[in-house]
Order: sequence, then structure tokens, then C-alpha cells
Amino acid sequence: MPIDAHHFREILLTAKAEFEKRVNTIHNHARDPLNADSAEQAAELGNVEVVSALENEAVQELADIDHALQRLQAGNFGICMTCGEDINHERLTARPASAECLDCAELND
Ligand SMILES: [Zn+2]
Repeated sequence: MPIDAHHFREILLTAKAEFEKRVNTIHNHARDPLNADSAEQAAELGNVEVVSALENEAVQELADIDHALQRLQAGNFGICMTCGEDINHERLTARPASAECLDCAELND
């Protein structure tokens, strides 16, 4: 099945906006811990490590999303960066920022 580039671009841009919001929220909470989600609670508890882990995770996901958008642009979206095989369509749908097929991702774990 050919990749629906437009569809995945929409999904990736939506996810990107979400993660950017999350990074901002974590930042703001670290400075002004008045809210009540997990990042805020961690900040209130002074658990800087938890907050920065959450932030790193979101920043990493943002980077993956940016790379996926670049691959869409370049026309090699949906192709495993490691072995060059097509990435399973279900896997792409579940996580559009995936840069590797399931086999390669499992090998790296
Ligand atoms: Zn692969």
C-alpha cells in the first residue's frame, strides 16, 4: 500500500504541536508549580529529575517527529532507516515517527 504522505503529515504536525505544548507546560511548571498533572506534581515535590526526564522524553519525541517530517519531504518516509525495508503500515499508524521497522527496533532494544 503506498504511503499517504498528506495523511501522515497532518498526523505528525498535530503530534508536533502537542509535544511542543507539553514541553512548554513542563517548563512553565518547573518555574510556577501551581498545576496538577504529573509534571507539576513532580516539580512541586522538587523532583527535578522526574521533570527533566519527562522533558527529555518529549524533546526526543519532537526530534523524532521532525525527522519523520523531513523523511516525508525527502520521499523516504515509511522506509526503515536501518535495513531499507518498508515499515509495517500498522506500526507507522501506531507511531508515525517510527524510523525503523519492527525487526530493527527490536534488535536495538
Ligand atoms: Zn529494518
